[in-house]
Amino acid sequence: AEQTYDVVVIGAGGAGFSAALEAKQAGASVVLLEKMPSVGGNTLISGGEMNAANTWVQEKMGIKDSVDLFVEDTLKGGDNVGDPEMVRVLAENATAAAEWLKNDVKVNFLEDNLFQFGGHSVKRALIPEGHTGAELITKLKTKLDEMGIDLKTNTKADKLLADESGKVTGVEATGANGNKITFHANKGVVIATGGFGSNVEMRKQYNPEFGEKYMTTDAPGSTGDGIVMAQDLGAALTNMESIQTYPVCNPETGVISLVADSRFDGAILVNQSGKRFVEELERRDVISRAILAQPGGYAYQLWNQDIGDISKTAEVHKDEYDMLVKQGVLYKADTLKEAAEFFKIDPEALQETIDRVNKFAKAGKDEDFNHRAGLKDMSKGPYYIQKAVPSVHHTMGGLVINKTTQVMNEKGEPIPGLFAAGEVTGVIHGTNRLGGNAIADAITFGRIAGQEVAK
Ligand code: ADP
Repeated sequence: AEQTYDVVVIGAGGAGFSAALEAKQAGASVVLLEKMPSVGGNTLISGGEMNAANTWVQEKMGIKDSVDLFVEDTLKGGDNVGDPEMVRVLAENATAAAEWLKNDVKVNFLEDNLFQFGGHSVKRALIPEGHTGAELITKLKTKLDEMGIDLKTNTKADKLLADESGKVTGVEATGANGNKITFHANKGVVIATGGFGSNVEMRKQYNPEFGEKYMTTDAPGSTGDGIVMAQDLGAALTNMESIQTYPVCNPETGVISLVADSRFDGAILVNQSGKRFVEELERRDVISRAILAQPGGYAYQLWNQDIGDISKTAEVHKDEYDMLVKQGVLYKADTLKEAAEFFKIDPEALQETIDRVNKFAKAGKDEDFNHRAGLKDMSKGPYYIQKAVPSVHHTMGGLVINKTTQVMNEKGEPIPGLFAAGEVTGVIHGTNRLGGNAIADAITFGRIAGQEVAK
């Protein structure tokens, strides 16, 4: 079968939805292709937090921020491997993208709270209602339907089509019944297929460290298809070896733990000997490596009710909480001794660790690991203790794009008619993506891609 649109967008995550909506808004006819039975990708299963500088919430909370500081944090967080000009495009446009989500897409963000992920100098991550990407994807999907954009799920893009001049003219895809469909694109194609964290072979190809020993937090559709398709047309790749693990994941499934976001409010990490071994607000790569270096390659996250009352993760993420308890990897105990014994940790050793934490909390200085936010007193129960492992979370590398999100070839020239946005691209995050920057990246550049492809 053959179908013709002005714009074909591949991949229905944060970037793909944003591109499709903007292209339609600009007057183009648009089809959005998604290979899975349902939409959302990694955006859906993420915490959904989005960084932006000088937002309405920062203003309300009296937090001083700037585009320059956002750029600086992002570059530094990725060991200055990210492209400074592209990071600036992100930082300059993320605020408008967040306002667009709020005002046009009707996403509800918390009005009185922000996250400060590791590596950020100030609180700048907007938090969607429910603390998950489901709020974003639900509202983006509603808007897509309202605007009458065609969405084809169970439709996998296999190959990009180009004419003799090299201009991209469409996509060859496979539908639910194995039927072949050609989508012609009068104006162009946007690749928004996400990363390759769920493709173990591809991970190993670019960085042998990230083979089978790691599970992944990623959606099953994150298999790098867009990277391979664009490569067939001569697209340049960058930074492919940079693969990020998330430190605190379910040891049974590899799924990211949002309950463990209590770490941002003071939860500590200990090993099987009951000892702390890393600063809990260090970068994801640093904490992940530190956990893997412990006996057994795992850790426990420990917090008390006082911390739980601040972060409320057990309530906000109740489904995950109940599942972790059922799997026996999270335990709520009245006393520290009981918490230790559940995981066969020496109770005296754990008590010693907590005594030190309490001492440092009181003194306002963590003499062991210099916790940047300051440790919290944990003398009072009940306690929560959760077993955790690192898991592959984000692939920083991918396609090279320019400021208008055109995909570049190996000679450094744009491939006509081909655009990309989101995790499939590789120019922003350097060696290490900071928390809250994936959504900012996907939505900000997704919008630009949609506006540009429709021109
Ligand atoms: P981003 O954050 O960059 O938007 P996501 O992971 O949220 O990335 O979304 C990427 C989406 O692209 C996922 O829903 C995934 O299933 C989809 N996808 C990946 N490869 C293909 C493909 N070949 N054809 C259609 N959809 C794809």
